[in-house]
Amino acid sequence: MSGERYSFFSLLRETLRGHTGWKPAWRKAAPQKAYDIVIVGGGGHGLATAYYLARRYGLTKIAVVEKGWIGGGNVGRNTTIVRSNYLLPGNVPFYEQSMKLWEGLEQDINYNAMVSQRGVLNLFHNDAQRNAYIRRGNAMRLNGVDAELLNREAVRAKLPFLDFDNARFPIQGGLLQRRGGTVRHDAVAWGYARAADRLGVDIIENCEVQGIRVHDGHVTGLETTRGFIGARKIGLACAGNSSRVAAMAGLRLPIESHVLQAFVSEGLKPFIDCVATFGAGHFYVSQSDKGGLVFGGDIDGYNSYAQRGNLPVVEDVLEGGMALMPRIGRVRLLRQWGGIMDMSMDGSPIIDRTSVGGLYLNAGWCYGGFKATPASGLCFAHLLARDEPHAVATAYRLDRFGKGAVIDEKGMGAQPNLH
Ligand SMILES: Cc1cc2nc3c(=O)[nH]c(=O)nc-3n(C[C@H](O)[C@H](O)[C@H](O)COP(=O)(O)OP(=O)(O)OC[C@H]3O[C@@H](n4cnc5c(N)ncnc54)[C@H](O)[C@@H]3O)c2cc1C
Repeated sequence: MSGERYSFFSLLRETLRGHTGWKPAWRKAAPQKAYDIVIVGGGGHGLATAYYLARRYGLTKIAVVEKGWIGGGNVGRNTTIVRSNYLLPGNVPFYEQSMKLWEGLEQDINYNAMVSQRGVLNLFHNDAQRNAYIRRGNAMRLNGVDAELLNREAVRAKLPFLDFDNARFPIQGGLLQRRGGTVRHDAVAWGYARAADRLGVDIIENCEVQGIRVHDGHVTGLETTRGFIGARKIGLACAGNSSRVAAMAGLRLPIESHVLQAFVSEGLKPFIDCVATFGAGHFYVSQSDKGGLVFGGDIDGYNSYAQRGNLPVVEDVLEGGMALMPRIGRVRLLRQWGGIMDMSMDGSPIIDRTSVGGLYLNAGWCYGGFKATPASGLCFAHLLARDEPHAVATAYRLDRFGKGAVIDEKGMGAQPNLH
């Protein structure tokens, strides 16, 4: 195992010796012949699963296999927003569990993930939207989640630069979750990787899974670019590649892969102290600690495995930005990229067993899976270790699509590009 505990004293020691003594945060593990459990996908969800398997369930013969490098998938590509402002009974307890884990994460994994509970404010622009947000806020409070309804003047006091006076969609107020906010995305991957490694988990990078070996209806291991790896149980946490990897075991998932773009501006003096979302179009914005505006909007709307987007959505996102805060038109864009989203048919995730013995699925995170990372890891670890769903994830069954028991948070129907 590598890496010492980070503390004030280790920081002081390294400061005095010119930072020459830091060890790599995790080992470059080579694959062993076999493991009890192999997790496919070294994103946030896969690494968190491995960590909780070792930490909470005492299992240590575990590997995470990642085709690229740690942090190269969506865990390092998202816009870092965390929140638990959900409406439906299947979702609220799960996302609130995640929020509670975020609140203690840095102490738990001994890593600075820059958890910043700066608040998430969803703006509304008409009476119907206000009613919907009142209902959502009430559902949240009934479940012990914090929610506050702000009127127009309270929003103006918080974000005075929004377009209140000449707007095409006048701002009437907003629903604020103060405990929501942002977390540094790649630090979450690095922190979980380091913490799992310290507990004995092998993190195997540059190891692409190319086949799943099944014998008598039960998995026996994985064909990878670094050879065959035996496994009693396999957990798939491949996000945008879920359908392709599950197909290796003959499964067809109710998931489509779509591209989602993110944007970062040049650094500016701090002026947005929360995450704000536009209610009349798809646009959301926050400001990073380096001063860049971090913003995004809708998925591009066509199936793709390319980690880059197209211009019509760039235009659409920036139109939303201009309608909400015209000053964004003077800002220069610094960077833009895309990630592949595993869009489920109802917009909600799947954490469940599959019809293949020993094969478990964690997928369908759409564009909201970053905030779910800790709870997803905990619940998937519980399922893998105990063979039963965790109490807060009982609704995330794979067979709900066949039975019509969908969890359609947005009320949009079976259309992945609308969730
Ligand atoms: C632009 C953008 C903005 C977003 N904003 C937010 C946000 O603000 N808040 C939020 O909650 N969510 C957000 N999301 C969604 C969130 O990032 C994802 O839902 C979440 O990160 C997915 O889980 P993950 O971290 O495990 O995925 P990933 O990091 O993608 O991990 C999956 C891993 O599986 C690996 N893999 C795939 N195939 C194989 C194979 N055959 N063999 C081995 N390894 C394989 C991949 O290389 C990848 O590293 C956003 C996503 C994007 C793209």
